[in-house]
Amino acid sequence: MGIAARYEQVRREVEQACLDAGRPADSAVLLAVSKTVGTGGVSDAISAGATDFGENRPEQLMEKHAVFPDVRWHFIGNVQSRRIRDIVPCAYLIHSLHELKHARKIDEEAAKAGKVQNVLIEVNVSGEESKSGIAPEDAPSFLKECLALQNLRVCGLMTMAPPGDLSVAAECFAGLAGLLDSLRESAFSDDPGKLEAFCELSMGMSEDWHEAVQEGSTMVRVGRAIFSDEW
Ligand SMILES: *Cc1c(COP(=O)(O)O)cnc(C)c1O
Repeated sequence: MGIAARYEQVRREVEQACLDAGRPADSAVLLAVSKTVGTGGVSDAISAGATDFGENRPEQLMEKHAVFPDVRWHFIGNVQSRRIRDIVPCAYLIHSLHELKHARKIDEEAAKAGKVQNVLIEVNVSGEESKSGIAPEDAPSFLKECLALQNLRVCGLMTMAPPGDLSVAAECFAGLAGLLDSLRESAFSDDPGKLEAFCELSMGMSEDWHEAVQEGSTMVRVGRAIFSDEW
């Protein structure tokens, strides 16, 4: 099976998983994580209907965005201060914000680019040391600081589950969904207008997206299941 066929299959499965979870079929966006392929692979996925792509390296993001400017490019990698000016003009949504100094720099660069930058706050729900993201208990204050920045639109939360055990992953996803709900109730009294945008849960990868959709994911980030022959 090629990339286009795998993309179509995963998309159908994600739609079915949404229905199985009692949600509308189109309530989770399938992000095709194209970091392991070149523009040919992206083109195959687009031919199968892909509209949203994820990249974790600024150079790849810029290159592919330049070739395919009409699909949405999501930045899902480690944010570095000196690359923010490259990322902002290309990124529809930055999933991996977890430092305030980066939030301020993104705000500045967005102002220069004449855009409001969509961002998600990355949370380390599992508490694994190897994972990046803010601690769940720091989320209220972190969110408050971000909401004060005029050129950021905070659209929700992102996490990565520890690999290996799907029941642990499911717990991690449920934790992120619970955090989104509690922030929606507590963090927007000063900014009721910003509550509407704060609704996305970016969670789930090739191995664990079923669990993520079950727990309320609105964006699954799938790489290998679409782009790898060996999946
Ligand atoms: C690579 C990557 C993915 C996709 O992982 P697969 O296991 O290939 O589906 C998702 N999210 C992030 C942050 C990644 O770096």
